[in-house]
Amino acid sequence: MSKDPKYKRVLLKLSGEALMGNDSYGINPETVAGVAAEVKAAILGGVEVCIVVGGGNIFRGMKGAAQGMDRATADHMGMLATVMNALALQNSLEEIGVDTRVLSAIPMASVSEPYIRRRAIRHLEKGRVVIFAAGTGNPFFTTDTAAALRAAEMNCNALLKGTQVDGVYDADPKTHPDAVRYDALSYMDVLRQDLKVMDASAISLSRENNIPIVVFSIHTENALMNVLRGEGLCTIVGE
Ligand code: UDP
Repeated sequence: MSKDPKYKRVLLKLSGEALMGNDSYGINPETVAGVAAEVKAAILGGVEVCIVVGGGNIFRGMKGAAQGMDRATADHMGMLATVMNALALQNSLEEIGVDTRVLSAIPMASVSEPYIRRRAIRHLEKGRVVIFAAGTGNPFFTTDTAAALRAAEMNCNALLKGTQVDGVYDADPKTHPDAVRYDALSYMDVLRQDLKVMDASAISLSRENNIPIVVFSIHTENALMNVLRGEGLCTIVGE
């Protein structure tokens, strides 16, 4: 018999890239369906799941600013990109029968609910997937920081960072075949060595709230459920 999940409530952080598949831009429907299937397995396993989705597959504020745009305006565009990803993910989840609510930090009443903390918690208690769109709602932040913030607000037991690789390595495993994966790291290791896990404000916020960060590959079959059971390849960042 398989083990019970180790965590009761988790926040899954997906970068925009996680929805892009092998395309160079935008949303790949098959990839989104694969991610949705992973989330469904977790819900059926009795885990409460909320998601923060990025927007880098569509637009990043920094890129707009580098091309001469006002940074705050470019960041607003980046946040709108996350709303598109959130709707794509909701669509895929509902297609496979998973109740899902999108809550946006930028109020957008015709397409999503506004972000209200107590309402989000209620959705989770009812077994619905909650997708947090529009990051923190503020320019000059990232969706990594939004993920750490929402994980703390929702009292999550862990922040799961679904990436393209199965953990944190001492060098880029794509270019260094002998790179070694860390099983565990401390928040301070990540900050001191500037390891590319999440940005520094997300790491600090998770550290202050004692929320472990689990880095794993979202594109491996059953990866999410394996990580929830404390199995499978990943790197855990904690005290
Ligand atoms: N963004 C923002 N405030 C937030 C979250 C995101 O201004 O709280 C903007 C920012 O421009 C960012 C873009 O939204 O570049 C997309 O988010 P992010 O780069 O974090 O997406 P990811 O890298 O996870 O795909």
